[in-house]
Amino acid sequence: MPYLTQLAKVARRTGCPVTEVSGWKTRGHGPQPEVDGVVCHHTAGWNDMHVVRDGRPGLDGPLSHIWLRRDGRIFIVAAGRCWHNAPSLSLGHTNSRSIGIEAENDGRTAWPKVQLDAYKRLCAELCREFGLPVSTVKGHKEVNSSKPDPHSINMTSFRKDVAALLKGEPAAPALTWTEKLVKDLPVLRPKDDNYDVKTARSALFARGYLPEAVYATVGLQAWLERTKYDDEFAGLIKGFQKLKKLDADCLIGPDTWRALLTASR
Ligand SMILES: [Zn+2]
Repeated sequence: MPYLTQLAKVARRTGCPVTEVSGWKTRGHGPQPEVDGVVCHHTAGWNDMHVVRDGRPGLDGPLSHIWLRRDGRIFIVAAGRCWHNAPSLSLGHTNSRSIGIEAENDGRTAWPKVQLDAYKRLCAELCREFGLPVSTVKGHKEVNSSKPDPHSINMTSFRKDVAALLKGEPAAPALTWTEKLVKDLPVLRPKDDNYDVKTARSALFARGYLPEAVYATVGLQAWLERTKYDDEFAGLIKGFQKLKKLDADCLIGPDTWRALLTASR
C-alpha cells in the first residue's frame, strides 16, 4: 500500500469539518505498508496537533495519521506510516499495519459529544474505505497493556456505534460523484433521442434490472447502443420506478437518475 492520500476524502464523508495539515500527503516514516486496523488514542494534552505532526523528544513525528480536535474537527496529519503503537499486542495493529487517530484530550476530561460522534464516524468511514471489520477498531489500551487511552471509553459499545454507522450511508455521502453526475444529466422523456438514453440503458443493465429476454434477439450491445427512448424502454423504466417507490411517470429526472446510478438489488 502506498501513501494513504485518500484520507482527507474519507474523512469528509463523516460530514465533520476537515483540515488538511500542510504536507500531509507525503508525511510519514515511509509509506503505509498495510491497513488492517485502526487504533484510537488520546493525546494526553491540549492544542497538541504539532506533537502528533512533529513528534516529541525521543520519538519522531508523525505519531498518528489523524488528530481529532475536541470540537470534532478532523486534521489529516500524515499519509505514511506513523509511530503510534509499538510494541503492539495485536499483529494487525502494529505501526506498519494500522491507522492511528490521536484525539485531543488530557486523559481526564470528559469527552465532548461532538468529538465522540466524530470519532465514531471517522472509524466507520475508515472501515468502509479499507474494507475493515469493525472488530479491528481498537483502543490503544486494548492492544498495548501499559496504555490507558482512550480514557473512559468503553470500546465494546464504541464499536457497536461504529457498526451502526457503517450500516447506514456516509453522512456526507459518497454522493459527491453520483450527485455531480445527476446534476449534469438532463430529464429524459419518452420519444427523446440522444446519448443520455444510452446512459440510462447502461445504468439499468448495470444495476441488474434488465431482463435478458428484452435484448435476447438484438443482442445486448446493440440494445445498449440505442439512443431512442422507445415504448419498450419506457415500460422498463416504469417498472424500475415502481420497484424503487418513485413516481412511475417514465420521466427520468434527478430521483430516477439517482436510483439508476446507485441502486443495488
Ligand atoms: Zn495511545
